[in-house]
This record gives sequence, structure tokens and C-alpha cells, in this order.
Amino acid sequence: MAKVTVRVPTPLRPLAGGLAEVVVDGATVGGVVEELARAHAGLRRHLFSPEGKLRSFVTIYLNDEDVRYLQRDGTPVAEGDVLSIVPAIAGGAPTALSSASRDRREAIPSAADAFSRDDLRRYSRHLLLPEVGVAGQKKLRRAKVLLVGAGGLGAPTALYLAAAGVGEIGLVDFDRVDLSNLQRQVLYTTRDVGRPKLEAAKERLEALNPGVRVIPHGERLTADNALGVLAPYDIIVDGTDNFPTRYLVNDASVLLGKPNVYGSIYRFEGQVSVFDAQRGPCYRCLYPEPPPPDLVPSCAEAGVLGVLPGLIGTLQATETVKLLLGQGEPLIGRLLLFDALALKFRELRLRKNPHCVLCSPQATQKGLIDYPAFCGVAAPGDEEVGGAVPSIEPEALAAALASTDPPVLIDVREPMEWAIAHLPSARLIPGAELPERVDEFTRARELVLYCRNGGRSAHATRLLLDLGFSNVRNLRGGILAWSERVDPNLPQY
Ligand SMILES: [Zn+2]
Repeated sequence: MAKVTVRVPTPLRPLAGGLAEVVVDGATVGGVVEELARAHAGLRRHLFSPEGKLRSFVTIYLNDEDVRYLQRDGTPVAEGDVLSIVPAIAGGAPTALSSASRDRREAIPSAADAFSRDDLRRYSRHLLLPEVGVAGQKKLRRAKVLLVGAGGLGAPTALYLAAAGVGEIGLVDFDRVDLSNLQRQVLYTTRDVGRPKLEAAKERLEALNPGVRVIPHGERLTADNALGVLAPYDIIVDGTDNFPTRYLVNDASVLLGKPNVYGSIYRFEGQVSVFDAQRGPCYRCLYPEPPPPDLVPSCAEAGVLGVLPGLIGTLQATETVKLLLGQGEPLIGRLLLFDALALKFRELRLRKNPHCVLCSPQATQKGLIDYPAFCGVAAPGDEEVGGAVPSIEPEALAAALASTDPPVLIDVREPMEWAIAHLPSARLIPGAELPERVDEFTRARELVLYCRNGGRSAHATRLLLDLGFSNVRNLRGGILAWSERVDPNLPQY
């Protein structure tokens, strides 16, 4: 038996007594993880499938090596080893510019290719760098980069790419600017609240650099349109906030042979990598399957430090510019992990999965698939999340609460959300604690569960139904719908 330090990722810490690191005894990776799950029972369903197998979306590193490339569960561990659980969190030279065509263009400078006096001045700090120079600045001007998502990650990326003089910047987004975006989405101002993001972003980026063309793509990226939207671009930057779009962006990039500059954020932590299947692994090599939708909360549910996407998005912009210039060591085959609270960067080696369904020689997936179904979430626009469960409308709940036999109201959100706003007669039982606390309420009375928008509480309702509760309903639309339709004084967040 050896003493091994297990690094617990933030999303799982509440289930491990709030600890970031746990020292566990074991002889093998499997033994250590089993011991961890024994000590902290709540972790078990996150780490193991009902059949007792390690879940495939939980990637485990022994020191800096993925155990899938060692002996998996059977990998022996030694005293002082560090085991990292790296969960999926909700985030080369451009192929379109082959070196031959690039060299040819540079060999024959034309008048149209020349920079104006203003351009020379604007880009002077680039032109002074031997790694960029006039030739590199021209590469940037000829480049076409697509940013999927104009939110927290897309905002700094777009600003820096426009400032750097990337000739064409495509933006995919269909949201409007919300007041709650401004804490991190530095592309927008208070005056933009309510405007379509693409309209505000185009204006801002063209004001920053009139030499840049901004191409808005205002439709939601789907399996039907993704290949067409991505095709004209040299590099794709993944700034999405959900798993279906993340897998879609990865798969379309691999099928089109384009590098995918990946970033994702969660509370105080971020991940960055460059997935270029022609030279290294893709996102599916790292995470063959997404986590179940109720295990990983979104930023809207979990919160995020405002400067974090600034850092991660800026790293994505850095990698994009390096790829376009063909300079430096890209993050291909490496996963950079950032922890803002500890202010630490860690780097893990990523291998190309020899059995990847998408990018390996024996790949079985030759096209795009149904991503909402693959990720187990409702298709965009669908009301129900996590399968249909009995629900109640806000107005009906208000009437029931005023009756002589009101239902028991359970708030499944986190304590921080409760502190912002909650319904008067509710009890707070965060979703993660629900399985262990079901004995606290009687099955004789009707239960109504609610969360922010009805998604998490739908999963919680499903869980209680599966545990044998029969009289349980989900507040449709959550506390947001309640605020809109019953009590406008209740703050929205
Ligand atoms: Zn792959």
C-alpha cells in the first residue's frame, strides 16, 4: 500500500468534504479511486457507472500521464504519487494556408498587399518582432478565424484578434446582451444591454480596427449548418458554454481538418488546449463521452469569476495568433489547467486516442450526429429537461401555496443563489445533497421542487420519482418564471 494524493476537481469537492486534496491508501489506480469513493460516498456515482466501471468522461492522470495509456485501473501507484481527476467542464499552421501557397504569396509582393502608413503605425509593435514582421502581419491580415460564442471567452479573444489585425473574424452567437453578462464580457457596455450581441460586437470590433472584417453568424450552430459555417475559416476558436455545441465544434473541425482552439471555464478554473487532429488529439480523444447533464452545472448555475474568461480567452487568442504565424510551440497534445485561486498553471500531456471514433485510423464516425441526444439534453427550444416530469405552473403554485393544504416547497439551488432570492415558505436542499436527505421529508405530502429556471429541479424531480416518491412536481421555469409571472419584486439573476 502506498499513500497517494488525490486532487479533487472543484465540481466534486462538495462531495469530498470540501477538500481539494485527499490522501488515500492504495496499491493501484483502481484501488485508490475505490478507497476514495468509500471514504466519500457521494463521489461514487460521479466516478463509477451503475455497473461499477470507471466512467469514461472522468479522465484520471497519474502524475502527468493519462492512466488510459498506462495500465488503466490496474496501474500500480507508489508512495507520493499524485492522482488527478480531470472532469469535462462546460469548453499548427492553418490548413487553408498551406506552406506552399503562403510562400508563393510572399514571394510576389503586390501593391494590393502593401500596408498603408497607418497600418505600419498601427502594427508597429508587431512589425518590430522578428517572429511577426511584415510577412507575419500579412499572414494575420489574410487569416480567417471563426469564434463560436461571443460571450466570456469570445469577448477577449475577439478584441485581441481584431487588435492584432486578423483580416476576417466570424462570430457565431444568437444571444442578446444581458446585464449579467457585463461582469466578464468586456466586448459590451451598459448601453448595449438588450441589443443582439453580434450587432454590438461588430460595432465595437470595427471601431477598434476598421481594417478588420467582422462576419456575423446569428443562427444557432447545428449539425445541419456547422460544416457550411466553419468551412471558409482557417481556425476555429471554441468559446462555447455547453457540451452539445462543444462536441459539434470538435467534430466539424476534425471533419474539415481545421485546428480547434479550445477553452473552457468553471468558477475559478479553466482549461485550454489546441485540438488539431492532423497533428494530435481531438476533444473526443480526451473526453469520448460528455458527463450526464445533471452532474456539471453551467456558469449560470455555478457562477464564474469575471476575470477568468479574460485570462482563458486571451490564452486562446495567443494560440490562434501563434498558429496563424506558424511560430512557437502550440498547445497541441497538451492540456493547460489554470486555477485562479491558487494562481497555478498545470500542464498535462494529451495523447491521440488510438480508438477515437472520430480521428483515429479506424474511425467509425464519418459525419455529424445528433448532439443534444448524444449529450442527453433536450434540443434547443424544448421545454423539458432531463425527460418529462410532472410540473406545475407558477400561477398554479401560488394558488396551491395559499390553500389550506399547501405543498412542501424545496429549493434545490446552491446557498449563494438562495441568498440572492428565494420563495418564502421554501426549504433549501441543494441538489447534490438531495439523495442523502430524502428522509427529511414525508412522502405523504405533495412536494414541489424549484431551481433557477426549472432544469436542475426537473432532474431532482426525476430522482425523487425514481426513489419512489409519487407526489412530486417541478416548478416549470423556476424562480425566474415566478418572478416574471407571480412576484415581480423577486430579483432575477
Ligand atoms: Zn480524437
